[in-house]
Amino acid sequence: MIKNKKISKFAISIVEELQKNKFQAYLVGGCVRDLMCGITPKDFDIATNATPNEIRKIFKASRIIGKRFKLVHIFNRSELIEVATFRSGVDEANEGNLVTDHSGKILRDNIWGTLEQDTFRRDFTINALYYCPISRKIEDYNSGINHINKRKIVSIGDPMKRFSEDPVRSLRAIRFSNKLNFKIDKDIKNAIYKKGHLLENISNARLFDEFCKIFLGGIAEKNFNKIVSFNLSRYLILTDSNSSDFSQKLIKEALKNTDKRVENNQSITPGFLIAAMLWPELLRKSRSNKEINLRKFFRSMDQILREQQKITAIPRKFHSYIKDIWVLQLKLHSRIGKQPYKTFKHPRFRAAYDFLLIRERASSCYSDLGEWWTKFQKNNSASQKQQILNLKDISEENSFKKFGFQEELI
Ligand code: ATP
Ligand code: MG
Repeated sequence: MIKNKKISKFAISIVEELQKNKFQAYLVGGCVRDLMCGITPKDFDIATNATPNEIRKIFKASRIIGKRFKLVHIFNRSELIEVATFRSGVDEANEGNLVTDHSGKILRDNIWGTLEQDTFRRDFTINALYYCPISRKIEDYNSGINHINKRKIVSIGDPMKRFSEDPVRSLRAIRFSNKLNFKIDKDIKNAIYKKGHLLENISNARLFDEFCKIFLGGIAEKNFNKIVSFNLSRYLILTDSNSSDFSQKLIKEALKNTDKRVENNQSITPGFLIAAMLWPELLRKSRSNKEINLRKFFRSMDQILREQQKITAIPRKFHSYIKDIWVLQLKLHSRIGKQPYKTFKHPRFRAAYDFLLIRERASSCYSDLGEWWTKFQKNNSASQKQQILNLKDISEENSFKKFGFQEELI
C-alpha cells in the first residue's frame, strides 16, 4: 500500500542499519500517516528499541538531543532524521524518568519500553502507525488504519487525561483535522473545551514551535478560524480575537497572504505575521485623541513584544524585523522631499510595503497610498519626482500624526 519510492533513502538506510544490529526499527508517526493519505511527508521519524546511547554507537554522524524527551538526530549532508527509543509511558514507580506536575502534565518522559507500549503513548490513532520498509508491513495497535479510512481524529485513551498530560494535543488535533480534512471525534472536542485552558502553562518556546506549524504550513486561515471557534487564540496571540472589526480583518488578510505565499513557494517568516497580529494593539496603545502619539508608539513596541513573548517566544532575530516593519508604516505615510527615497532604500521596504497593502485591504476607507508606492517602485527617477510633486496637500503629508487609516485610529 505504501510506496517506498516516496520515502527518503537515507531514512530507509537507517532502519536497515538498526535491524542489521539486531534492533527493531520502524518509520513512525506523521510520515506513515501522510503516506497512507497520499501526502508526501515533509520529514521522516524512526522509532526503535535501541537506546540513545546504542544508536549513537552505530551512527557516527549523530547526536543525542533533549532532556525532557531524549532523541537522537542522525544526519547526512542534506537530511536530518529523528530517531526515538520506544517509551513505555507507564506512570508506576520509576527513577524520576517520567515526571508529571499537579495538573497531570508530563514534564519528563524517558522510560524505555516495547513497541506495543510506545504505540499507547502517542497522541492520536492515526499517528501511531509503524511501517517497516523492508517487510513492508504496518503495525497498527490502535485502529489507526481504520480511522484513516473513516477520516477521523481519535485520541489514544481518554482525551481528558491525555490532554491534561500534554495540553498542546488540543492544538495538534485541530491542526491535523484541517490538514487532512478529518473530523475531530466528539470526545476530543469536549476535551478541547474542558482542557484547552491548560495551554496557559505551556512554555513559550514550545508554543512558538506550534505557532509556526499552525500558521506557516499553508492553511493558516483555516487553522486560525478553527482555533478561534474553540476559543484558543488567546494562547497563541496577544490580541483578542473579539477585538475590533479592523483587527480581525487585518489578521485574516495577513493569514491569507501567508497561505498564498506558501502556495507560490515564496519566502515566509513568522516575523511578518506577528507584526500584523500585534499591529492593532500597538496602535491602541499609541493613540491619543484619534491621532498617533509618536512617543507612545516607540515606547509601546518593545512593551508589546514583551507581552507577546510571555505567550509565544519570539526569537531575537525577529524583533528588529518586526519593529522595522512597524516603523516603516509611519515612513510610508510620509511622502515629501527625500523621505520616499530613503524609505524605498530600506532593506525591509518590500515587507513593509506588503504589510501596507494588507492594512489597506483590511480597511474599508479609501486610500491611494499602496497604489502610489506600487507606481513609485516601477517609475524611473523623473516620474518618481513628479509623483512627489503631484501630491496636493504637502503640509498634510508632512504630518506623521495623520498617519493611519481612520479605522485604525478608532
Ligand atoms: P507534523 O510533522 O506534520 O506536524 P507529526 O505527526 O509528524 O506531524 P511530530 O510533532 O513530528 O508530528 O511528531 C511525530 C510523532 O510523535 C507523532 O506522529 C506522534 O506519534 C508523536 N507525538 C508528537 N507529539 C506528540 C504529543 N504531544 N503527544 C503524543 N505523541 C506525540
Ligand atoms: Mg513530523
